[in-house]
Amino acid sequence: MYVCGMTVYSDAHIGHAKSYVSFDVIRRYLIFLGYNVTFVQNITDVGHMTENDEDEGEDKLLKRSAETKIHPMQIAETYTRRTSEDLAAMNILPPDIMPRATGHIIEQIEIIEELIAKGFAYEVSGSVYFDVTKDKDYGKLSGRKTEDQEASGRVETRREKHHPNDFALWKKAEKGHILRWPSPWGEGFPGWHIECSAMSMKYLGETFDIHCGGLENQFPHHECEIAQSECATGKLFVRYWIHNNMVTVEGVKMGKSLGNSSYLRDLFKDFDPMTLRYYLLQSHYRSTTEFKKDAIDAAGIGYEKLLSAYEKLSAASGKPEVNALSEAELSHPLVREFITEMNDDFNTPKGIAILYELAKETNNVLSQAKPEQEQLTGLYQIWNALAGSVLGILPTSEPGGRTSDEKEKNALSAVIEKVIGWRKEAREKKDFAMSDEIRDDLLKAGVTLEDSKDGTKWSIK
Ligand code: ZN
Repeated sequence: MYVCGMTVYSDAHIGHAKSYVSFDVIRRYLIFLGYNVTFVQNITDVGHMTENDEDEGEDKLLKRSAETKIHPMQIAETYTRRTSEDLAAMNILPPDIMPRATGHIIEQIEIIEELIAKGFAYEVSGSVYFDVTKDKDYGKLSGRKTEDQEASGRVETRREKHHPNDFALWKKAEKGHILRWPSPWGEGFPGWHIECSAMSMKYLGETFDIHCGGLENQFPHHECEIAQSECATGKLFVRYWIHNNMVTVEGVKMGKSLGNSSYLRDLFKDFDPMTLRYYLLQSHYRSTTEFKKDAIDAAGIGYEKLLSAYEKLSAASGKPEVNALSEAELSHPLVREFITEMNDDFNTPKGIAILYELAKETNNVLSQAKPEQEQLTGLYQIWNALAGSVLGILPTSEPGGRTSDEKEKNALSAVIEKVIGWRKEAREKKDFAMSDEIRDDLLKAGVTLEDSKDGTKWSIK
């Protein structure tokens, strides 16, 4: 699987989360079915223009760099790290491979050279364009024909292109452009589309199974990826395309450029990241999700209900070791129903509805005077498979999840309070050497103590 990753010039918002939660569940479900999934998600750190996702405007990272006076690679690094943290908090599995566009310039140049050699691309004063009129299949993914397109963009670019729909594979770097590389056509930088062809084919082969991305990427981004990849290799590029729909606010698409985005970091102050994950999975990946705070609150109540059934079961069953489902567990009617719904284009809303049935059954079993261990273990395995492995909504002990963060915080706070108690005892016994040693050791570990008449306060600096 290849997923178009973030352009790392700011934090991830809830629209990104919908995309990455959707593809995470698809990946998890395929693993559940027994597939060996290699999951590649790139980082766009060069070449993605503002304005219209085409060849015009400024590079988004360079624009941010000019505004903040911070090197573009520092911006890319910062937001790559922050985004990974945010997505991990929502229990999204990290990609197997996370390649960066700037780390694959050679591979991009190689494809462009191949396209020129085969007559699909041409160079004009240091820039290289793909000639859409040479590719009879252009438009096959989105159904958009080249004639539909109006000529747009800067006059020079329009003059350079043979056809208004030709798209840039390589752009000449003007004076002062920071991100630039030597190429057979002079110093420049790659267009946006070519990076995904280069990185996906490098790690997954010239023909691979699944390519995912937001619906807004279908045209031009994915259409261009198909054109340049298939013309370069002469082979089918991708077997299945999966596009997720958007998150809307009062019916309007949420996005960084529209200014109505809700950054995950801000939302995490009000909502548990796992509740947000659950909320997103309540709508199908191909449907829009309307972003409404009271709807998320309502989802949170339902989610708690599910978790409480699971937690009671965990306690009653003694948390047996989690295994792959046995034949008997796989033939449980709710498991079969769940699989049927997920086989129908990954129907997560129906999948969640089935979990409510499972909660009902779990509560029934738990209300028996003496439930059988075998039955409890079976249900526990089913919960872990459907809600845990596939939907990823069970509380996780993996790093990043808020549940584990909170547990850690609580444990740390208990330990520090205990140590402060020992110091108090030492002072009461006038063992000032011990009390000073405790204070100094805590300070070395980053914990500052402040004594006042109300007691000792601590903080981590
Ligand atoms: Zn892409």
